[in-house]
Amino acid sequence: MKSLQTKIFLFFVLLLLLVQAIALWTIVAGNESQEKQAITNRLTTAKTIFSAQFNSRRDYLAAFAETAAKDYGIKQVFEDELRSLLVAMNNHRKRIDADLAMAISSEGVITAQLVLDKNQAGESKVKQGTEGKQAFRFPQWLESQEQDHLYVLGDSVYQISLSPMNVGAKTIGWLAFGFEIDQKLAQHFLNITQLHTDFAIKVGDEWRLIASSNTDAELSFTKRVVNGDTPNDYIAIGHLVDEAGQLQLALAMYGLRADIVAVLQEQWWQFLILTFITLLLSLSVAYLIAASITKPIKQLVKQAKIVASGDYNQTVQITDSSELGQLASEFNAMQSAVLSREKAITHRANHDGLTDLPNRSVLKLALQDLADRKQPFRVFHLNLSRLKDVNETLGHDVGDWLIKAAARRLSTLEGFQLLCHIGADEFILLAELNDDSAPDLAVEKIHQVLEENCEYQGISLQLQVRIGIAAVPEHCHDTKSVLQMADTALHHSHKVNQLVQIYHQGLDVNSAERLSLINDLKDAIVDDQLELHFQPKLNLVSGIVTHVEALVRWRHPTLGMVPPDNFIHIAEQTGQINALTHWVFINSLKQYKAWCEVGLNINIAVNISAENLKAPDFYGFICQSVETYNVPAEKVTLEVTESAVVDDPEAAIAILQKFKNRGMRISIDDYGTGYSSLAQLKQLPVHELKIDKSFVQRLCDDEDDRIIVRSTIELAHNMGLSVVAEGIEDEFALNWLAQNKCELGQGYFISRPKPAKELTAWLLEKKPYIFE
Ligand code: C2E
Ligand code: CA
Ligand code: CA
Repeated sequence: MKSLQTKIFLFFVLLLLLVQAIALWTIVAGNESQEKQAITNRLTTAKTIFSAQFNSRRDYLAAFAETAAKDYGIKQVFEDELRSLLVAMNNHRKRIDADLAMAISSEGVITAQLVLDKNQAGESKVKQGTEGKQAFRFPQWLESQEQDHLYVLGDSVYQISLSPMNVGAKTIGWLAFGFEIDQKLAQHFLNITQLHTDFAIKVGDEWRLIASSNTDAELSFTKRVVNGDTPNDYIAIGHLVDEAGQLQLALAMYGLRADIVAVLQEQWWQFLILTFITLLLSLSVAYLIAASITKPIKQLVKQAKIVASGDYNQTVQITDSSELGQLASEFNAMQSAVLSREKAITHRANHDGLTDLPNRSVLKLALQDLADRKQPFRVFHLNLSRLKDVNETLGHDVGDWLIKAAARRLSTLEGFQLLCHIGADEFILLAELNDDSAPDLAVEKIHQVLEENCEYQGISLQLQVRIGIAAVPEHCHDTKSVLQMADTALHHSHKVNQLVQIYHQGLDVNSAERLSLINDLKDAIVDDQLELHFQPKLNLVSGIVTHVEALVRWRHPTLGMVPPDNFIHIAEQTGQINALTHWVFINSLKQYKAWCEVGLNINIAVNISAENLKAPDFYGFICQSVETYNVPAEKVTLEVTESAVVDDPEAAIAILQKFKNRGMRISIDDYGTGYSSLAQLKQLPVHELKIDKSFVQRLCDDEDDRIIVRSTIELAHNMGLSVVAEGIEDEFALNWLAQNKCELGQGYFISRPKPAKELTAWLLEKKPYIFE
């Protein structure tokens, strides 16, 4: 109902129905009056015919009766014997085929009466009438001038004409001739008028039907017609002929209305059928017109939906010069305008207005993509140096020009996946890492491309950038943190006035706190503010704790417990790490001895920094210490991170080899977060790999991590290394690692790092763990 097509079609339908109804009504009304007219004509004509025929019979009879009355032969025999008179009269009667002939004497007695008697078979025979020798019943007629009368004789009624027979001035009698008003006459009228004709007479008060063309005629019907009370299904006309005072002749002419209007009705049907066919045709045409009007509109609606769904590639084709055709082409024009505007808006949303380089939104998507693909990458956060000076001294136009120049040059760089302009003087370069190449090469390329000075209206401007670098997964695993880290690194490069800074955890610490920590750390070691906590490593075969890791804590006099992540880097950067490691190592050895005394024989692991490995007397110190405290070298594990080795592999490998030779266990800490290749790993003189907690923590729900950990374990075993998993936080990880043949497990699920006293009690109480 709602569609335009239906509405247009309905409009046509209503219009057509209205037009047809008006036409029909006009025709019905015309037809009705035509019908009435036709009927009236028919009836009046019939009546006229009757009158004419009736009168002509009268005139004929009158003329004949007069002529016969003058006949000498009749006069001669009139008063003679009856037989001769009858013959003469019959001769006359025969001439006009009259049904009645009478001779009346001057005394008013009927001297001769001849009646044509018709039997059923239609044969007729002349007889003498019954009134012979009787007085004529209507003597007054003989005196009157009126010649024509209706005369009733027995069952018959005659139309008669009387004529006196004169001899000289004397009237010797009268002659009368008559035609019967009979069925033949009725039939005659039926033939002429196609209407049935009834004749009835009223004598006194009594009505009698005397003749009819209709075999089923009934007196009551005839009377109704004469009284003007015709039943509806008939058309009829009545007429009364009066015979002064004595009788009335009634005439009824009628026919079935249906017969009369049959012809008209046939025409009427033809008309109806024609109307119906026209209506059907018109409706089909109306339907086609409605469809043809709405087709282009439907196309436009469809197109609008397509456009709304975001598809701008299809256009609507309406080959029509009408307004709809124009609308379609306007529509297409609008669509392409919207398309180009949308493109412009999208471009605007994703690009920097000044340099037209991708902006932060594009960067986010790119980072997301890298994260989805688990693709290692490096972020270079660039900051144009001295732009503020340029803006202040030469104006912002020059500043903008300089930024554009930098953007142009940076875009020529190869080997980066993305260059973004994320703020006034800040750019980000993304490089996917498919090997463990150091960032140096990339940094060199960046500096090279910007090396040459820019000439601006004779002024030579230097394009120098500071670069902060962070990488996934080297520094973190999520794309948000890596941007922050690169930014932190960049800030640091400003602070220490260097061109490039690679992120490390130490940069994160709030600088004020950091400064005070730097000062306080010196005292911490001397003033005995450090504490050791120990975290057990569970043997995943026996279910017994066989190793612990020493983790340093700093109980700061004002800040409270400072976590190692906040001060180890400071210690490393301020050269205090050696003193710290010495303290940790000595105290770990002491703890080893203490445990031996209570019967616990436990391997102690100590974390060693890259800086320690570089210190010339480090090897000597370690050997000296184990000897002093008389601790077997194989009871000591040195945990070294991958990155500690990467800095200066040759030197690191050499010293680690010495430790190994001396009998100490070497463990590669945080394995998986750096970029050590298998080739490098093979060269390292180590005993075990310590899989980083970031892989272990999510073992339960991350299929990828399970694959990485499982293959790391296999790889280590193939190279003759044992495996430690740190960061076991749930039972699933513990059992899974045991099932996958990992040798040692460490994590909060087993135990948090605890002070020595607490852990001792725990160790003594602890029953072997039963794996599933
Ligand atoms: P690390 O060597 O990787 O030490 C393991 C760290 O993971 C510890 O943090 C430990 O508390 C934590 N950890 C253990 N189990 C779980 C676990 O199930 N879930 C989670 N989320 N963490 C767990 P802590 O003690 O804060 O040490 C942080 C880092 O500080 C150490 O990482 C290490 O790199 C450094 N560090 C600690 N003590 C020393 C030290 O004596 N010398 C040196 N050079 N570095 C140290
Ligand atoms: Ca460690
Ligand atoms: Ca670790």
